[in-house]
Amino acid sequence: MCPQTVLRRVDSLPDIRLLRNIIAEARICKPQPCPAGQDGQICVQHTPSPDSIVPAILSTRLLIIGAGPAGYTAAIYAARAGLKPVLVAGMQPGGQLTITTDVENYPGFATGVQGPELMEQMRAQAEHVGTELKYDIVTKVDLSRRPFRAECDSGDTYLAESVVIATGAQARWLGIPGEQELSGFGVSACATCDGFFFRGKDVAVIGGGNSAVEEALYLSNLASHVTLVHRRDTLRAERILQQRLFAKENITVLWDMATEEMLGTDAGRPVARALSLRHVKTGERRELAVDGIFVAIGHDPATALFRGQLDMDESGYLAVSPGGTRTNIAGVFAAGDVADKIYRQAVTAAGTGCMAALDAEKFLAEQEHAQEKAVA
Ligand SMILES: Cc1cc2nc3c(=O)[nH]c(=O)nc-3n(C[C@H](O)[C@H](O)[C@H](O)COP(=O)(O)OP(=O)(O)OC[C@H]3O[C@@H](n4cnc5c(N)ncnc54)[C@H](O)[C@@H]3O)c2cc1C
Repeated sequence: MCPQTVLRRVDSLPDIRLLRNIIAEARICKPQPCPAGQDGQICVQHTPSPDSIVPAILSTRLLIIGAGPAGYTAAIYAARAGLKPVLVAGMQPGGQLTITTDVENYPGFATGVQGPELMEQMRAQAEHVGTELKYDIVTKVDLSRRPFRAECDSGDTYLAESVVIATGAQARWLGIPGEQELSGFGVSACATCDGFFFRGKDVAVIGGGNSAVEEALYLSNLASHVTLVHRRDTLRAERILQQRLFAKENITVLWDMATEEMLGTDAGRPVARALSLRHVKTGERRELAVDGIFVAIGHDPATALFRGQLDMDESGYLAVSPGGTRTNIAGVFAAGDVADKIYRQAVTAAGTGCMAALDAEKFLAEQEHAQEKAVA
């Protein structure tokens, strides 16, 4: 149920300072209409408390940064292991799945589940088993010594014996008219997630790098036809991928085309129906009728906070131990899309969230055992 006394919407966070002491309730406004926002947005009930505006320094054995599938799963495992984790949710509580509609590939839901609903269930489960959830944003970390230090936008500081980083990655969008309105209604940034909905249909993929070509190849096995729309006259994708692309009979490449607008149907809830394109050399405009539009211009891992402290690859994804979640700093673990440029799925994020919690639990047990031995 959407709370009726909504004062703030967490999706925009105009002033996080006002939110730091909310925080009685957070609910996804779906399917009930929300007085403050649109369907799918997360609303919080604001219960201000004047004396709690003083910044606090709080200690925890495990701090989890991020409230997507990775963070919530880490929280569920850590709480059940008795670690009493604190989870800081950031500017998008629930993570990327809160901006999508049908999720049909997360196990356990025979007929699929809405993204925001799935995340609401994860939140509830994490809190139910004892996670302390904070609606705040980590703005600075010091991982140079333990306890690790994380400062938040509210002014609060966490001193943590171990940290799980689950800050995710954001798909890059074009920022053109129609894109946001049609997102989840024929516009997607993930072929693995949404390609299934376009079986036997015509789709467009926008981009020219490896991601775009991989998305186009994946979709060519499902859609009847794929048009790759690229604003230049050559692709940046690896040669081997290009060879596979050009060998596909149901893929066409539109060169030198800038996408100016995504167009939706007129009647009822608009769904994507076409792209408005402009030839970058001739200026000629045309419409391309499609059933689905996939934006594939890359992702940005949310790792700016950790630059200079944690090892990363050239794209900014956190480097972790092979097949594990350990970073280059003992006691700091990474899970989900923030350390995964290949799979980027909710179920893989949840899987590595579980692994990170188990790794953190083992790390803390070893540390505590060593301390006990030193004292004895
Ligand atoms: C439109 C769309 C549709 C998708 N559909 C599917 C699908 O159908 N099936 C599927 O398996 N996957 C799907 N995905 C991919 C899936 O959403 C991601 O793989 C998954 O959400 C990654 O989870 P995560 O926990 O690693 O990170 P995210 O979900 O990205 O969550 C990151 C969290 O970190 C928090 N955070 C970031 N910075 C800070 C900070 N400084 N302080 C505190 N917190 C911070 C954010 O607020 C957020 O809560 C889709 C993605 C998109 C964009």
